[in-house]
Amino acid sequence: MINIKNNLDKIKAQIQQACLQSGRLIPLTGFAKPLSGQSLEQQSPVSLLAVSKTKPSALVEQAHLAGQNNFGENYLQEAVEKIATLTHLPELIWHFIGPIQSNKTKQIANNFSWVHSVDREKIALRLNQHLEDDICHNTPLNICLQVNISNEDSKSGISIEQVFVLAKIVDNCDKLILRGLMAVPEKKAPKACYEIMQTLFIQLKEQYPSVDTLSLGMSNDLDKAVAHGSTMVRIGTAIFGARENKI
Ligand SMILES: *Cc1c(COP(=O)(O)O)cnc(C)c1O
Repeated sequence: MINIKNNLDKIKAQIQQACLQSGRLIPLTGFAKPLSGQSLEQQSPVSLLAVSKTKPSALVEQAHLAGQNNFGENYLQEAVEKIATLTHLPELIWHFIGPIQSNKTKQIANNFSWVHSVDREKIALRLNQHLEDDICHNTPLNICLQVNISNEDSKSGISIEQVFVLAKIVDNCDKLILRGLMAVPEKKAPKACYEIMQTLFIQLKEQYPSVDTLSLGMSNDLDKAVAHGSTMVRIGTAIFGARENKI
């Protein structure tokens, strides 16, 4: 049987190691201890998003029991059902990380706190409009722009040139908070892809004080992503095990 808590502990240790190696965490030497009330984990500059796509709500609950609260989903129908099953756990924070069809924006706005995969103006405006229309909904939606860093035709995401144009549009939306950038580099993507994301993120942060998130790194490229400034890694397989069929 899969041991979710064990897997989460391993990933957190790997994140911490990657942070230490890239100078993003200062090693504790000698008798130095974390400040009172602060665990090492809380000091980590990289947060962990557990990607639960294709996995049952029972496994999400197990991860929650082990202290995990942020979950990522790709497939809307599956996600909406899972979220409905887990409403007794109000601490859960849901992130939509999959491709977005414009006729699904209402359900996304209603069910998620974060959307990492915004890649066109129409989607941003529709998400904003749903929240404007829904007077009961007063928490804004956290937005990352998805960048097609490997320039693959098949992958969603904006080109590098479009980043600042779309950022301005999102920043102008009252109900959206521009939090940063997201990318899914192709397997074995060169280091240059990660460097470009890091640079874009730094530039965006200089322009927009709300920007604090570089959503980069999955089970296979976690170390490389952390070395290039990722602030949020999206980990599925290494926590929940391999997926069947769907990617
Ligand atoms: C599936 C998926 C992940 C998780 O990938 P793993 O390799 O299982 O860690 C992260 N981000 C996105 C956008 C995904 O679709």
